[in-house]
Amino acid sequence: MKIDSIETWRVQMPLIYPFRTAYGNDDRIETILVRMTSGDHYGWGEATPWQSPGYSPECAATAFIVVRDFLAPRLLGQDITSGRQLQDLLGVYKGNFFAKSSLDLAWWELEARRQQTPLYRLLGGTRQTVDVGADFGIMESVDLLLKTIGEAVASGFKRVKLKFRPGWDVDMVAAVRQAFPDLVFHIDCNSAYTLADAAMFQKLDQFNLAMIEQPLMFDDLIDHAALQKQLRTPICLDESITSPSKARKAIQAKACGWINVKAARVGGLTPALEIHDLCQEAGIPCWVGGMLESSLGGHHCLALSTLPNFKYPNDLFPSERFYRRDLSIPHMALSGPSQMNVPDVPGCGAEPDPACLESQTLEYTVLKR
Ligand code: MG
Repeated sequence: MKIDSIETWRVQMPLIYPFRTAYGNDDRIETILVRMTSGDHYGWGEATPWQSPGYSPECAATAFIVVRDFLAPRLLGQDITSGRQLQDLLGVYKGNFFAKSSLDLAWWELEARRQQTPLYRLLGGTRQTVDVGADFGIMESVDLLLKTIGEAVASGFKRVKLKFRPGWDVDMVAAVRQAFPDLVFHIDCNSAYTLADAAMFQKLDQFNLAMIEQPLMFDDLIDHAALQKQLRTPICLDESITSPSKARKAIQAKACGWINVKAARVGGLTPALEIHDLCQEAGIPCWVGGMLESSLGGHHCLALSTLPNFKYPNDLFPSERFYRRDLSIPHMALSGPSQMNVPDVPGCGAEPDPACLESQTLEYTVLKR
């Protein structure tokens, strides 16, 4: 299909309360939205690199510029028949995975709408209901955390993920394990540590964590492989996996037992599917992560998580957990305890609320053939 126009927005989304991780505290999320058209059809994409380059080398402002000045002009007027073809066109530019992802997602949604099919089916998804987990950032006190986990357990969440950083670490995990002996939970370190902390991570083996997510440098594989050799608990790589090639190397190096797949971090659904397949072949299970996207990006993640090698409750959240009013509609919602349903409608099933989009836009651009 020939790409006729590409609109791009940089948008801010105020959070109900600051999201606190090893990277710092964010009180609003910045996201990139893309609307791509071909003839009478359109599709929406979203990538959420955040307001500062804290999670990855990209931020929303740079992603906006890269899409506007380099990536979108590469695609405009081209007849693009596959996600791989789109990626090859964009491949002339290095990195910038979030920026590429916004366009890749828009292409897949456009193609799904054009074929009048749900996105999850186009991707090869095999289920219409997926498991989701509960995540908790750094809190004021361990007592508050235990109370909050208790509420999540009571409402049926199948697993809990906890942010972990110096000062909110081994003692916190010990308290959680003592209070919840059977809880399936893991920690996410967001790259806050080095190999010099190996002994601290070995102490965590006794708490039977499901995994330790991204303990070391955001782009590292070698040190993770060295750390994994010293641990019984599997490492899950997140930030380090930015492409199918990085995933293949991580598997070869035995750097992890799990991979968290974020379509935005790896450049889109096309590379996310490739990572899914190569992990499946290698016997490495995956799960889908998120960046607090609006419901639009959330629905793309939801569609991706219907593939068979996503084997751990995913990071997909009800809109009301983070946003007073989600930028996109319909809002993300649980369909049962620890579960979400995937809409059976053409496309991903969500798009921006025009009024919210207008009031929350920081920058906008349109390119037409
Ligand atoms: Mg993570």
